Amino acid sequence: MTMLSRVNAETISVGTELTCGITVDTNAAWLAAKLTDAGFHVLRHTIVPDHEGDIRDAVRAAAGRATVVVVTGGLGPTADDRTRQGLALAVGRPLVEDPAALAHIHSFFERVQRPMAESNRLQALVPRGASMIENTCGTAPGIRAMIGSCTVHVLPGVPREMRIMFDRSVAPILPVVADRRCVATRTLNCFGASEAHIGEQIADLMAAGREPLVNITAHKAVIRVRIIASGPNPGAAKTAADADAQEVHRRLGPLVFGEGDTMLQDAVATLLISRKRTISIAESCTGGLLSKRLTDVPGSSAYFLGGVIAYADNVKSTLLAVSANVIALHGAVSEAMAKEMAIGCRSMFLSDLSVTTTGIAGPGGGTPEKPVGLVYVGIASARGVEVRKLLLGDRLCRAEIRDRAVKAALNMIRLELM
Ligand code: ATP
Ligand code: MG
Repeated sequence: MTMLSRVNAETISVGTELTCGITVDTNAAWLAAKLTDAGFHVLRHTIVPDHEGDIRDAVRAAAGRATVVVVTGGLGPTADDRTRQGLALAVGRPLVEDPAALAHIHSFFERVQRPMAESNRLQALVPRGASMIENTCGTAPGIRAMIGSCTVHVLPGVPREMRIMFDRSVAPILPVVADRRCVATRTLNCFGASEAHIGEQIADLMAAGREPLVNITAHKAVIRVRIIASGPNPGAAKTAADADAQEVHRRLGPLVFGEGDTMLQDAVATLLISRKRTISIAESCTGGLLSKRLTDVPGSSAYFLGGVIAYADNVKSTLLAVSANVIALHGAVSEAMAKEMAIGCRSMFLSDLSVTTTGIAGPGGGTPEKPVGLVYVGIASARGVEVRKLLLGDRLCRAEIRDRAVKAALNMIRLELM
């Protein structure tokens, strides 16, 4: 077992379907996490098309910088799989048939009782001096070759096969890194302010080079603050991550609704259950999406009484007792409408809270006074009725406007219960 202090690793993903954007390279991310966990410094990910010359150049360059290189993809039996040829060029040795690899391929076809195509024989070719990496779930064996002091591990592209083979046959023989750093992460999910606004409040924590590393990502109006701490042991890394998480919580307060995979509806469900409150929903422009999100959470029957999709004006008046006056004077998309819908819904369902949406999801139907993206969210409780006006803008498409309206409604419920 070798003990090294700083060890570089790289990944290379082979496939024209990757370079032209048909398939997303998930192998590199998975391998990078594994290699980082094992203490390696992952320098680069390279993606190359199914072309021998490009594969050769990428393998040579990576082997010149790293001690461990993991290549995935292009080991299949068809003419477009060029990885073994590219590897042979990088190593500078001809391809020869490996008897162990051939026996392995034969035994695969015997096990599944299928005839072997002649082209499958190609999968037994490895550069002279290289060895085979056994594949227990597919035909293509992997290849292990040395270039100088770098070990190049070549695995199939199919993610499931690649992962099993890495865990079984690559991870156990990786060099042991001496100054291995342990990593701990926390992810705080926020809603209700822009990425820029949140970024300003924690700017000093995000300074370049600071430890732990704090960064922000925004996805569909949910802002995630990720804290990545490292330390000589798991306890030290966790302590550093926890300290930063506490500081972010302190600064952002109620903007933080949960951690990790928690979604807004999960946070709302937890609050409704702990406060022992029930809820009902009357939706217009969100067409049932708010009710769907609330009932996505297992155990939602503890708080969710029911909902109506009141699209047409006469449904709003007959089911929710909205007065004809409101429709005539203010229109279906109005503060007064959201208010009356919320009151009507609450008395119909006899719930603690009632939440309503009415708006213009677009793309058509907007006017200068009531543009696309105008949504009113109403919330009725024993304390009265509150309505929020949202201007979700014309840059969002219909699905996005509905999604943001639902998130805003969920966030209003959350804040009401806090
Ligand atoms: P096979 O024997 O199945 O042909 P292979 O080693 O030739 O294996 P590829 O043909 O390159 O593998 O890829 C097979 C499939 O695996 C691709 O269609 C793609 O769906 C998936 N795949 C390949 N590389 C990646 C990658 N880097 N990230 C995610 N998926 C990938
Ligand atoms: Mg293939």
